[in-house]
Amino acid sequence: MKFRKPAILTQLATYRERNPEQFWVGAGIGAVSLFGMVAAFAVAPDSSQLSVTQRTVVEQLDLPKSTPAVASQPEAFVHQERVQRGDTIATLVARLGVQDTDAVNFLRTSREAAPINRQMRPGKTVTARTGAGGELVSLSFPLNGAERELLVEKNAGKYSVKEQTQPTETRILMKSGEIRSSLFAATDSIGLPDAAAIQMADVFGGDIDFHTDLRKGDRFSVVYEMVYSRGEPVRAGRILAAEFTNQGHTYKALFYQEKDDGKGGYYGSDGKPLRKAFLRSPLEFSRVTSGFTSSRLHPILHTMRAHKGVDYGAPIGTGVRATADGTVQFQGRQGGYGNFVVLKHQGSFSTAYGHLKGFASGVRPGSRVHQGDVIGYVGMTGMTSGPHLHYEFRIADKQVNPLTVALPSAVPLAKEQMAAFRTRTTTLTAQLDQIRGLNLAQSN
Ligand SMILES: [Zn+2]
Repeated sequence: MKFRKPAILTQLATYRERNPEQFWVGAGIGAVSLFGMVAAFAVAPDSSQLSVTQRTVVEQLDLPKSTPAVASQPEAFVHQERVQRGDTIATLVARLGVQDTDAVNFLRTSREAAPINRQMRPGKTVTARTGAGGELVSLSFPLNGAERELLVEKNAGKYSVKEQTQPTETRILMKSGEIRSSLFAATDSIGLPDAAAIQMADVFGGDIDFHTDLRKGDRFSVVYEMVYSRGEPVRAGRILAAEFTNQGHTYKALFYQEKDDGKGGYYGSDGKPLRKAFLRSPLEFSRVTSGFTSSRLHPILHTMRAHKGVDYGAPIGTGVRATADGTVQFQGRQGGYGNFVVLKHQGSFSTAYGHLKGFASGVRPGSRVHQGDVIGYVGMTGMTSGPHLHYEFRIADKQVNPLTVALPSAVPLAKEQMAAFRTRTTTLTAQLDQIRGLNLAQSN
């Protein structure tokens, strides 16, 4: 089949020349990182703000990679360096181009600047602004934990030090990949952060069990937010749109919120919420548990005696999630089940979780839980030969096979909401189409 090169590909080629480090191509895997948009922190993902026409993409690609957050003193030079193992303040600021003995002494000895010395962790990105002769103008150092930084400024030979929130901007990135061995192998190869990969597993968690359902050749595309500070990525934000083709079936997720109240959810292109009454897997998905996919540890359905359920092999301590909203009916020790939790859900549904190592705090008879809440941890209490979760799905207190039971389907958006939904998600749909097309083009 002949593939006509769409305009976006030409633009991407140009973009790749200018920004080779921002363009990922793996064997058979197409991945695009576009500065689709540069905007203030916490942008609402509505289509009016997300209108990334191809023209604006190109214009925004011309932005310098590092946009200095403080641009009020144009004569200053901006330098950025990552902290390396064994760095001291002296070696770090030397790499930053600071040639200012007085400033180096201040940074090394003053009490206000002491957190820099104490929190010199490899990988942190430090930004310095200097004058033409290397004299320090300012230095910003990211503090451990939350998005805070220490800002040291030198003005007419006087120093001021303050702790402040890191200036951030949110960019929209788009990536797509194909599963060859595992989800994380695929997401690593295209540079999709773990937080976004796990979010993707959550978004599709009502339809796909990411521990057991994935197959070689599955494909995915993601449009997501990435929070940057001074041109450096800080963390992944929300997924705005995603598409996952699992065993030949394609699922689409579009983020939509009715009001700009920060709450929202994921919907298919038909306006049906992706969130299902029950999650497909009671196990928390992570890099560690994702490796537990050998056939030995695949879910096993037992039918022996009254012990009817599914066993999920997982490392001890793995989070066990409530698969649906409900209340705790039982929590404690129960015979062969060991540490055991039974949750009561809507209608006549209940779920049960056995062999737990322990319970999450607050999980007591009568307490309310929400879908996805961690209620306990995988262990090997009760009658078991190894660490695993025993999971039961019950209807009117009778065990049924959760892997085959037909579950109540979700209610779609009301007709009068559909128009707004379509308008707001048009761009997201177009973005998914763009990166999917790129992927196909490369594997042809
Ligand atoms: Zn079992």
